[in-house]
Amino acid sequence: MTVEAYNPKELKSFKDIETVYCSGCFHGTINRLIGEAIDKMGLKESVIGVNTQGCASFISDYMNLDFVEAPAGLAPSVAMGIKNVHPDKILLTYQGDGDLLSFGMSDLIHAAAKGSKITVFLINNLVMAQTGGQVSPTSILGQITDTTPYGKSIEKDGNHINIAEMIARLSGAAYVSRVTVDIPSRIEQARKTIQEALSFQMEGKGFSFVEFLSTCPTYWYKTPIESRTWLQETLIQQFPIGLIKKSYTK
Ligand code: SF4
Repeated sequence: MTVEAYNPKELKSFKDIETVYCSGCFHGTINRLIGEAIDKMGLKESVIGVNTQGCASFISDYMNLDFVEAPAGLAPSVAMGIKNVHPDKILLTYQGDGDLLSFGMSDLIHAAAKGSKITVFLINNLVMAQTGGQVSPTSILGQITDTTPYGKSIEKDGNHINIAEMIARLSGAAYVSRVTVDIPSRIEQARKTIQEALSFQMEGKGFSFVEFLSTCPTYWYKTPIESRTWLQETLIQQFPIGLIKKSYTK
């Protein structure tokens, strides 16, 4: 697979500055891939991003794009409202699992069920990071978090949610995929997936959703290398990578 190379100084949608993300966090790579995709598609003047809270909210500091900050969990609804008023704009949300799946689950489900012509990017790192490492709806059984110090248990805490597979069951969901950015070939796949999801919105095919399986070394209490190994050896089995749905019916 050929990996496209971009000079960060030539990117228009992404700022060439240092980020606050911790070492080994995938947010920085994902931010940049989104900027590259928007540049390549010539969408810089058309995109409106919606962010909310958590480490995902920092994206607006690093992109040369218009952003609106929504209350916790409500980014899909805010994006739907803006899209209704400005149907020519490309609306994307960028949210972590704590924000989108704890506070915002109902907004997400309704946006997908309605076939809203927006794109939701979920950064799933299995923990509520910015608030101190609490358990999230995607934390897996046995995972140590600040609120599951003996490991997440099915009796006390329940199982994790595979949201991409759930969203794909809704008829309004046109494009659903799960990707990660741990190795160059998967980074390249993620770049193509971002472009495809935005293309589905541009062509009016319905709701598009991309889940990025991500890392949080800080609140996984692992080094960056241990985090990547855990993702590769354990998490990809729980959250399989690949295209889940591509529907041309809408
Ligand atoms: S706390 Fe976790 S999610 Fe937040 S920037 Fe650090 S590694 Fe990334």
